Amino acid sequence: MHFFIIEDLQNWIRGGPDMGIAYLTAALRQQKAKVSLLSATDVLKHFLKDRELLKIATSNEPDEKTNPVKVACLLKKVQELQKTADLENFIQQRVEAENPDIVGFSLGHSMENPDIIKHIKGVLPKLEILTLAGGASMNSEEQREFALKQLGFKHVVYGEIGNNIGEFFEKMPQEFRGKPVENLDELPLPDFSLYDLDSFFTPSRALPMLTSRGCPWRKCEFCAHHSGYDRYREHSVEYIERMTEHYKNEYKCKYLMLHDESLMPARGLELANAFEGQGVYVYSYAYPRGFTRPILKRMYDSGFRVLVWGVESGCQRVLDLMNKGTKVNEISQILKDSYDERITNVCFVFFGFPGETKEEALKTVDFLEQNKEYIERHSVGKYIHLPGTPIWERGVKVNPKEAAQRYEEISAHVKQNNIQTCKPRFPLIPGSSSMREFLLYQTIQQQTT
Ligand code: SF4
Repeated sequence: MHFFIIEDLQNWIRGGPDMGIAYLTAALRQQKAKVSLLSATDVLKHFLKDRELLKIATSNEPDEKTNPVKVACLLKKVQELQKTADLENFIQQRVEAENPDIVGFSLGHSMENPDIIKHIKGVLPKLEILTLAGGASMNSEEQREFALKQLGFKHVVYGEIGNNIGEFFEKMPQEFRGKPVENLDELPLPDFSLYDLDSFFTPSRALPMLTSRGCPWRKCEFCAHHSGYDRYREHSVEYIERMTEHYKNEYKCKYLMLHDESLMPARGLELANAFEGQGVYVYSYAYPRGFTRPILKRMYDSGFRVLVWGVESGCQRVLDLMNKGTKVNEISQILKDSYDERITNVCFVFFGFPGETKEEALKTVDFLEQNKEYIERHSVGKYIHLPGTPIWERGVKVNPKEAAQRYEEISAHVKQNNIQTCKPRFPLIPGSSSMREFLLYQTIQQQTT
């Protein structure tokens, strides 16, 4: 059995390998299958002819990555290429050259990009082998139906696939849902060997790591994460220690990007035990409740360097509407304590949650402004009404334009009034992620000291 994986083609400029593909690779190899990959970086390397821009996107040299003009130029060029490149022909040629038994497309954010979808729809009838659609978007029933009926995939898989892939091969149903793994420690260690780990838009190797599945809170009205993972489960500290050593020894990687949905304080302490003395630097999402200064200190001492907080709103009534379970006052205190313990705070907020007024959205701006001394970067977005979220499942009707209008309105207000909402210790780079900026900062610091 030869399984050819095609990575999600929405984002050609990648900060690192895909976690799901690493687990799938490990599981397929356990089944004695041959596995190969067409990565998004391979696609970029094929179509981007400008060697200088390509070097910025795919080398681990920091210099040009900090040049905002060149990075903006790279992003623009790639956007144009995604519209014009003959992706269909390229995919077909690569599949024919590989001659696999089955081709699995990972459809994460590709489903949001009509250009990519058009290419996939065009190429599928030309591939005279089994085609399978997977990836996060397949957790939605509507998207599965679209993949089968509109795009022409023969199979769709969703849920937790890696360890269940053998069961899929036995029955080969049109739709297959991988059951949740009860004991996560039974999973093989993720396998990143299909990737060139020095070919990403980062100055140092940084690898994703998943130490749990699901979210321990899983009640936020706007969040669809629970539709992919059932209940919350964790790896043991011993397994995480082993996995960290594997990342260091096998992949020579000391920067870990945790993909856990939302880190709670007790788990933060457990992970601190696992990372202690390993010499790793850790980036993680975190749930802003219950983190005290001693907990944050312990986490910093073990290697945590960036925490991305799901702040969402600076208005208590809106947080309650979202069923977020957090308190605005406590969030401020956590950000201050975290900053004082030298952790970099990144805050996620968004505008346009159903029921939020303009005055309430402005309270979020006030929150960012009042706490800007402790916030080094934020991601400001607009509400997206997604299938699989509690609010969607309750049948709440939403006008998609309203959230976009609110976002534009508040952004214009921030710009017109020159409101400063964060104070970065390291340079902001257009089109980059906070992880990438952090890595650049670290790498440059290490090179100059
Ligand atoms: S938004 Fe975060 S905390 Fe809320 S349910 Fe989703 S993953 Fe959990």
